[in-house]
Amino acid sequence: MSTRKPHRILPLVARAPAEELQGWLETLNKALASDAQVKLLGDLTPEERKAAEVAIVANPDPAELLKLPNLKWVHSLWAGVERLSSELPKDGPEIVRLVDPQMAATMSEAVLAWTLYLHRDMPRYARQQIQKTWQEHTLKLPSERTVTILGLGNLGKTAALRLKANGFNVCGWSRSAKQIDGIETHSGADGFKTALSKADITVLLMPLTPDTKGMLDAKALASMPAGASLINFARGPIIDDNALLEALDEGHIDHAVLDVFASEPLPDVHRYWDHPSVTVLPHISAPTTQSTASRIVAGNIAEYMKNGTIPESVDRSRGY
Ligand code: NAP
Repeated sequence: MSTRKPHRILPLVARAPAEELQGWLETLNKALASDAQVKLLGDLTPEERKAAEVAIVANPDPAELLKLPNLKWVHSLWAGVERLSSELPKDGPEIVRLVDPQMAATMSEAVLAWTLYLHRDMPRYARQQIQKTWQEHTLKLPSERTVTILGLGNLGKTAALRLKANGFNVCGWSRSAKQIDGIETHSGADGFKTALSKADITVLLMPLTPDTKGMLDAKALASMPAGASLINFARGPIIDDNALLEALDEGHIDHAVLDVFASEPLPDVHRYWDHPSVTVLPHISAPTTQSTASRIVAGNIAEYMKNGTIPESVDRSRGY
């Protein structure tokens, strides 16, 4: 086994605060035990860089990855890899993203929490409190609300089922046709319009790709029922911001809960900050849990060390 030793040093290539990197080094090395050792890229010897076939990455600088000439694949610590996918050369290393059931549970909790926030009219009652207005509004039952989830992958499907379990009427949309018990599903361009037209609340959980960029434009927003709301937990550029602001100003869209933006942190001058119909969140809907993610990454790497199997990687032509 000593011949494989150089491969057992894994570079961690990440742009993250030092404290977070230290946390990752500790949890990854604990999870990998004797299978391999993770070091920051800067701490690798020239020989170790040359021998590295796999790197663990989180928002890496692509130039840093070029310092690893024999890289076959990278394991992301993030679920969203659109930036990596667009920045790395097409014939570069394969990209494996994080698929963690804990992240799906965390995201579905966020989807439920912010759906309930809209369902129970919390933004409206908060505005009424500022005006000292004592006025009740008709209470709807969850079964009287349709929530559409755009994207029925690892995160979207779990969120859809959690909403269903909480009594909401749930509709879902994906690229390929899907069957999920108790959920009305749609796919393709016609399906997109149908899914939007039914939604009191639409939740974005699809990846950012050339196909989905700007997908929530003026036409798509107009096809939502008057007074509908929007939750974006996917990526900012999927929404056409000017079109959304216009729809919010006109009142066609009642409220938007936005966790992700074209530019993050959201610039101070952005209209979203002060808009009465927008809730701004600082990209917190589903952070990676270091302990569970490290175990999943370690398992995938141990498998690769044992038999050379690279987990399912991103399809670079479709971008996710
Ligand atoms: P996933 O498993 O790859 O699922 C993506 C889903 O979107 C699939 O159902 C896919 O359809 C659908 N889709 C992709 N392109 C489409 C298109 N052009 N038209 C229609 N449907 C399309 O991804 P995931 O793990 O669920 O993650 C989804 C996204 O959540 C990530 O890409 C990331 O951007 C975001 N995210 C955000 C946070 C946060 O904190 N805000 C945290 C984690 C992830 P098929 O099923 O037919 O392939």
